[in-house]
Amino acid sequence: MDRGLFLLPSRIALDVTRRQAIGFISHAHMDHAAHHAMALCTEPTARLVRYRLGDVSTKIMPLGEAIEIAGLKLTAHSAGHILGSAMVYAEHDKGTVLYTGDFRLGPSATAEEAQLRSADYLIMECTFGHPNYRLPPRDTVIEMLLEKVHEAFRRGATPVISAYVLGKSQEVTKILTSNGIPVLQHPDIYAISQIYQEAGCDLGDCRPYQGRPVPGCVVIVPPKPITPGGLPGAVHVEKFHVTGWAFDPRRRRNAPQDHWIPLSDHADFDQLIRAVEEVEAKTVFCTHGPKSFVEELKSRGHDARWLE
Ligand SMILES: [Zn+2]
Ligand SMILES: [Zn+2]
Repeated sequence: MDRGLFLLPSRIALDVTRRQAIGFISHAHMDHAAHHAMALCTEPTARLVRYRLGDVSTKIMPLGEAIEIAGLKLTAHSAGHILGSAMVYAEHDKGTVLYTGDFRLGPSATAEEAQLRSADYLIMECTFGHPNYRLPPRDTVIEMLLEKVHEAFRRGATPVISAYVLGKSQEVTKILTSNGIPVLQHPDIYAISQIYQEAGCDLGDCRPYQGRPVPGCVVIVPPKPITPGGLPGAVHVEKFHVTGWAFDPRRRRNAPQDHWIPLSDHADFDQLIRAVEEVEAKTVFCTHGPKSFVEELKSRGHDARWLE
């Protein structure tokens, strides 16, 4: 049996991580992509997927334009998660389906804002589907980040931010550079930033890290390499974690002296509820996240089910 989500009867795979004849790739995080015989995705996602998986043949889905594939009408809508991220809306005689993939409502520095659409059935990722998972307003979080970075500079320290190489790193870069703070990036992050730039997403003053910090610049590295040895070439480092999980005390306990900035590229609890209300589906199918979210939706009068 093939596990994963498929649109029937055409068997178009949705974010399945094994090769399929036709597979929709919502975005280029590797838990959503595979080297499909034909990958359906947006143009920036195609660039990012090729960088990560090699020469994948793609059928580009321009945002908001319906295409016909294997007898189904499909439309990609932006998901607000990372550059190129998209939801897919499928029209079938038995009804319409909106599949979100990873998404976030509201503005982003580097992704187009999510466009929800009413559908008969909603298949939604629910990573932060618990009332404990509520994030502060985005502006407050950005202010917090900038303030802590400036404080670190005043203490003569190099702020070193750990963030996912694809998506979060570029978003944090753009937030910093557009507030006058230049960024030095780990080479793995810089390589992906080049693809962002080629896709038309200008990240401002960002350069690769050359083995020594530059006064007034923030350094961004992947989540792993800065623990425990610090940053090569830097003497006085202050570590930052920019993650939606920053509110989780268990995670903070592992590195209590570091700065935790709760900037997420996933919808928090309130945004998930808002999405369900806006889509007005007959049935909501929840994937990822806590299973208790299904009960939460039922208690609010929605027909909800867990999708394994
Ligand atoms: Zn993702
Ligand atoms: Zn994901």
